[in-house]
Amino acid sequence: MSQINILPIGSGSTGNSIYIEIGPHRILVDMGIGFKKIRDALNRYDRNIEDIDAIFVTHGHYDHVKSASAIANHTSCKVYAEQSSMYPIRNIRSERICVNIDEPFEPLKGLKVTMFLVPHDYVRTCGYIFEYEGKKVSYVTDCGKMNDKIFSYISNADVTIIESNHDIGMLKNGPYPIQLQNRILSKFGHLSNVDCADTIARLYETGSRNFFLAHLSLHNNTPEIALQTVMEKMEGKDVSIFVCPDSGDQIYYFD
Ligand SMILES: [Zn+2]
Ligand SMILES: [Zn+2]
Repeated sequence: MSQINILPIGSGSTGNSIYIEIGPHRILVDMGIGFKKIRDALNRYDRNIEDIDAIFVTHGHYDHVKSASAIANHTSCKVYAEQSSMYPIRNIRSERICVNIDEPFEPLKGLKVTMFLVPHDYVRTCGYIFEYEGKKVSYVTDCGKMNDKIFSYISNADVTIIESNHDIGMLKNGPYPIQLQNRILSKFGHLSNVDCADTIARLYETGSRNFFLAHLSLHNNTPEIALQTVMEKMEGKDVSIFVCPDSGDQIYYFD
C-alpha cells in the first residue's frame, strides 16, 4: 500500500473537499462538496465516508463548509478547525475540536498536524501540514499572498496541494465587478497562477516534487492555463503537476 493517496473531490469556486490517506489514516480537508458526491467518489475506490478518521476545516467560507452537517451526520469522527471557523459549522452532530494556530497536535496515532495562518478575507483562515512517519502533505488554499512563514511550513513535502486561483489577465478582463477583482487580487484574496508557479519553483528547491493545483476559479482560470503557467516555470525539472479535478473520479497514489 502506498503511503500517501489523494482523491480530490471538489476544488474551486463551486466547493472544496479533498480526501487524503496518509499512512493508515483517512482524512478529509474541508466540507464544501455535497455528501452524495463525496460518498460516490469514495465508493468508486472502495472507500467509505463512514471510515474517515478526522475532518479538518481551513476556514468558514461557504465553499469550504456548506455540506458540513450532511457530511458530519454520516461520520463519527471529530471535526478540527480554528475557533473562528466553528460558527458556520455549529449545527453538526460531530464533536468539534478547536485547534490553535502554530501548535502541532496529534489527532490520530502518529499523525502530526500543524495549522498555520493564511492571509485571506475570513476572520482566520488556515493551511495545514500533515506528517506521518517521515511523510508530509502540505495544504494551502485561499491565500492572498505567500509569505516566508507559510513557505517554511509547506516546504519539503512529499505532496503539496496549493492554490492556483486565477490568471491575472482573465480576471482583469473577465465578468467580475472591479471591487470583486480587487478583493481577489488583494493580499487577503487568492493566489494567482503566477504566484503559485513562483512558489512551486521555490518549493522545488526544498525537495518538493509532487504538486496539485487547487481552488481554480471557474470564471478567471482554466485547468490548461493554470497548468501551462506552472509548467513554463518548471520546464525541464523533474516534477509532477496535477490540476485538482472537480469530479472526484481520479485517485493519485504516492510512495
Ligand atoms: Zn475563502
Ligand atoms: Zn475558497
